[in-house]
Amino acid sequence: MRILVTGGAGFIGSHLIDRLMAEGHEVICLDNFYTGHKRNILKWLSHPYFELLRHDITEPIRLEVDQIYHLACPASPVHYQYNPVKTIKTNVMGTLYMLGLAKRVKARFLLASTSEVYGDPDVHPQSEDYRGNVNPIGIRSCYDEGKRVAETLAFDYHRQNGVDIRVARIFNTYGPRMLENDGRVVSNFVVQALKGEPLTVYGDGSQTRSFCYVSDLVEGLMRLMNNDHTGPINLGNPGEYTILELAQAIQKMVNPDTEIIFKPLPQDDPRRRQPDISKAKTLLGWEPTIPLSEGLDLTVSDFRKRLTAQE
Ligand code: NAD
Ligand code: UDP
Repeated sequence: MRILVTGGAGFIGSHLIDRLMAEGHEVICLDNFYTGHKRNILKWLSHPYFELLRHDITEPIRLEVDQIYHLACPASPVHYQYNPVKTIKTNVMGTLYMLGLAKRVKARFLLASTSEVYGDPDVHPQSEDYRGNVNPIGIRSCYDEGKRVAETLAFDYHRQNGVDIRVARIFNTYGPRMLENDGRVVSNFVVQALKGEPLTVYGDGSQTRSFCYVSDLVEGLMRLMNNDHTGPINLGNPGEYTILELAQAIQKMVNPDTEIIFKPLPQDDPRRRQPDISKAKTLLGWEPTIPLSEGLDLTVSDFRKRLTAQE
């Protein structure tokens, strides 16, 4: 199959491309390199089945493909809040153009949506029928509401034009290749601990997140794409931890001498988050296999290698 991965030079996209290439597909990676990097896909650059397109999805494009994994969008609050209008454009216009492409060439289209569509949830754990508690005018809205519109667009193209869609609601995912300056919590803590700097916990650290290792997530995305259910389907690891517990685990694992310090909690930071993955289990036969301790080990070694190479 010929498969387009938008955002393919990014963290999740590049791991997905590794799997698709290993399965012998032709892959087109499309990216504007905002938070993605060529080094993530370096090993495929000279492969005859691989093509790299530098393109911004806020502009239309014509391609012939069978499947589209639509991942292009900065995912870290630091990066998506840097230029919020661009984030909205990427989610709304970018998704519109990609759905238009899917419609024209009759490609199956998978949207990488997010647990952020649940906002600061008052239902716990979050199942797909929960409609969410999102602030429409806050600093996270460009991303949260952007992804909600992206889901709406996907379902409208499906109902109105028969586009074959899949919608994955991805919960916090971590692993090798996250940027050192990514700004998300796992990479921040790991980089801080490796550099012997204090780990910065925002608020009192009692807010929770559930962390999925990237290879598990990629397996879930591929199962969803190649199954018969449109979704939305939650993909995430139900193991729930407070941010302070995460900081302590990374401190213990990497550098027990490093300090934990507390910084102000950003506006609209969700209090808790845990996926209900019953649907993924029953419809896709999917559940995560990598426990946090093992995933953190793999992540720490990747960052250690990269930081040592820079010295
Ligand atoms: P990432 O920032 O590493 O990857 C995003 C990629 O999209 C980057 O390569 C970036 O350069 C590219 N991109 C951004 N804007 C673009 C544009 N306008 N045109 C073309 N390319 C563009 O993030 P990630 O963690 O790999 O996330 C991938 C997708 O999964 C995103 O859509 C994100 O919203 C979603 N997601 C991720 C998580 C997570 O925890 N990692 C959770 C929920 C949803
Ligand atoms: N966080 C933190 N220290 C950091 C980065 C993030 O305590 O250096 C917190 C953040 O306030 C949030 C949680 O960790 O409560 C997860 O943040 P992240 O940016 O990784 O993802 P999101 O908030 O989008 O789930």
